[in-house]
Amino acid sequence: MKGTTGNPQTRQWQDLSHAHHLPPFSDYRQLREHGPRIITRASGVYLWDSEGNRILDGMAGLWCVNVGYGREELVEAAIRQMRELPYYNLFFQTAHPPAVELAKAIAELAPPGMDHVFFTGSGSEANDTVLRLVRHYWATRGKPKKNVVIGRWNGYHGSTVAGVSLGGMKAMHAQGDLPIPGIEHIDQPYWYGEGGELDPDEFGRRVADQLERKILELGEERIAAFVAEPIQGAGGVIVPPDSYWPRIREILDKYDILFAADEVICGFGRTGEWFGNQYYGVMPDLMMIAKGLTSGYLPMGGVVVRDRIVEVLEEGGEFYHGFTYSGHPVAAAVALENLRLLREEGIVERVRTRTAPYLQKRWRELAEHPLVGEVRGVGMLAALELVKDKRTRERFPAELATGMRCREHCFANGLVMRAVGDTMIVAPPLVISEAEIDELIAKARLCLDLTASEMP
Ligand code: PLP
Repeated sequence: MKGTTGNPQTRQWQDLSHAHHLPPFSDYRQLREHGPRIITRASGVYLWDSEGNRILDGMAGLWCVNVGYGREELVEAAIRQMRELPYYNLFFQTAHPPAVELAKAIAELAPPGMDHVFFTGSGSEANDTVLRLVRHYWATRGKPKKNVVIGRWNGYHGSTVAGVSLGGMKAMHAQGDLPIPGIEHIDQPYWYGEGGELDPDEFGRRVADQLERKILELGEERIAAFVAEPIQGAGGVIVPPDSYWPRIREILDKYDILFAADEVICGFGRTGEWFGNQYYGVMPDLMMIAKGLTSGYLPMGGVVVRDRIVEVLEEGGEFYHGFTYSGHPVAAAVALENLRLLREEGIVERVRTRTAPYLQKRWRELAEHPLVGEVRGVGMLAALELVKDKRTRERFPAELATGMRCREHCFANGLVMRAVGDTMIVAPPLVISEAEIDELIAKARLCLDLTASEMP
């Protein structure tokens, strides 16, 4: 295996990886050639690799390390809970203090009337839970045929069979004969990429109207729920036009269809509000949560459920669904402490009033760069589009892999910035300071220059 390494241990870890490890979402052919980068430690908003390079983590891990790395309070919470009760399950009418206290803490932050939480081990499991839960809900209400769920092309809801099916990533669907039956998709509200000449609000209304057409095509008596991220993350930080969510909510109300907001990325402060649906003022019936719930320190997810759904579930008797690690006590204790930090240190408040406006202001300066067709963002989420021609929005040929080049320049220059095709994304830890935002912007600009210098 080839590698660029001064530290002999780097090579050993890469060889071990090659010999034994299949990392997720990785090109195995490329990995055989180059070996993985090895990350060994982290503090605040920075990572260190095995070569000793310091890297500003512009993606908060995978959009999850909201309170930043190295918070001793979370370590201590885990240790205390491990000593007290390291594990017990919640099956068969059981609870433990961390799970119920965490459920209460989440209910206090959630929109009014969403007072119950079903815990899972991940965001994907939360989406699987929603699929089963909404079908069970309608069946209990005597409407078993109301079982189709509508998602969106280019949405992301995880990697399990239901998660991939609800999501609209065509490359994922192609591997494994997905989506499963009973799941349909409509277009995404991606104005820059798909809005053509339309005014953004006009485009927003038009794509929202697709939901109504899909409902009428399939029959409203068959549609259980609409599943969507308030802002699509993995799809490329797709910020919908302002007209989009009000129109969607109107349609859902008109046809009595549940709205499951996937808050796995948007939740716990990323938009400057506790949840993305609060940013848009659009009330969900269910919310999928994970990632920022524990700031990624331990795996945990869940579904927050509206009270009127819970009343029906109570009529339905046993819900044959759950995971060994649902509400894991150590993860729950860490999540509780994480929420305490987010609340008591005013981290979400600071994002809303200071650091997100600053990030967005500085990010928008990158629009002047010759390679940048659009900049957009909300809160601690931001994206920019790499284009050949700003005026016509023409892209570079796919074989130039412009986004990937830019991403590699970023890694080489001490910044994690993600590429979705030729869309570059950041979602830094919520605790990022203004000086660190300046560093992020300076590095992003440098990497844009380096990428531009390679373009024909
Ligand atoms: N939903 C959204 C919106 C996500 O971004 C993700 C992960 O990126 C998931 C669900 C899946 O979560 P997990 O990877 O914890 O299964």
